[in-house]
Amino acid sequence: MTTIGFVGLGNMGLPMATRLRDAGVPLVVNDARGEVARAFAGGQVSAVDSPREVADRADIVFMSLPTPDAVRAVVGGELGLVHGRRAKLVADLSTTGPTLAREVAKLLEPAGIAFMDAPVSGGITGAQKGTLTIMASGAMADHERALPFLGHIGRVVRVGDAAGQGQAMKLLNNELSATAMIATAEVMVLGVKAGLDPAVMLDVLNTSSGRNTATADKFPRSVLDRSFNFGFRSVLFYKDVHLCRQFAAEFGVPFT
Ligand code: NAD
Repeated sequence: MTTIGFVGLGNMGLPMATRLRDAGVPLVVNDARGEVARAFAGGQVSAVDSPREVADRADIVFMSLPTPDAVRAVVGGELGLVHGRRAKLVADLSTTGPTLAREVAKLLEPAGIAFMDAPVSGGITGAQKGTLTIMASGAMADHERALPFLGHIGRVVRVGDAAGQGQAMKLLNNELSATAMIATAEVMVLGVKAGLDPAVMLDVLNTSSGRNTATADKFPRSVLDRSFNFGFRSVLFYKDVHLCRQFAAEFGVPFT
């Protein structure tokens, strides 16, 4: 039976790993916050102290990590996945950009470990419900190996076969999502200052041409109630926008 490794049990990783566990998939997990991994262990789930131990025990390893540097460390560090004895495929579910995807694929290749980028969209709710969109890029054989497991967490769209194409697609999506968020914040502030009721504004916008992911989801869920927590840290959103600007610059495409 295939054992799946999972590194990074944060806002997204924990619900994704939970869906795999609940589907009966044997798991080996690791997180820099050891207490989170240990609390999740039990039954068919073991927690280990390093990514290397994950790759010693799992056939396929998924990562859901905050930044490109975290992925670099988890893959290539002294106790990194690249030194593991068993894993033959690593898939990065984080948003880390096409340049890092190509770098990581090269790092793993000499160890005989294949790589696919498979960033996700759909937020915590999508991770909990298994309705994420997974933008996968990698060789067809690896795609087929990972598909039965990725299928527990969302709908897999194969966007390419070269490392980085899934990440490219994800940066384009998040650029639009961030644009909607910023534009919505501006018009909501203007409307409130002009005396409009924010709940009425969202009601109108969501049945009008201004509707977007911020008006439909983020503002009703976490701005109107002033919790300001939709499960995605602002620093990570900023990281995505920054990565997209680097990506655009590579092709000489002007971005405001
Ligand atoms: P998070 O900060 O909640 O979780 C990251 C986890 O990685 C934490 O548990 C942290 O302890 C762990 N970690 C960090 N460095 C580590 C290391 N070296 N070794 C092992 N574990 C380590 O982030 P998140 O919101 O779960 O996002 C994860 C990735 O998914 C990010 O790249 C993010 O941009 C992307 N993403 C997030 C959302 C969302 O709505 N939160 C949606 C889509 C994609």
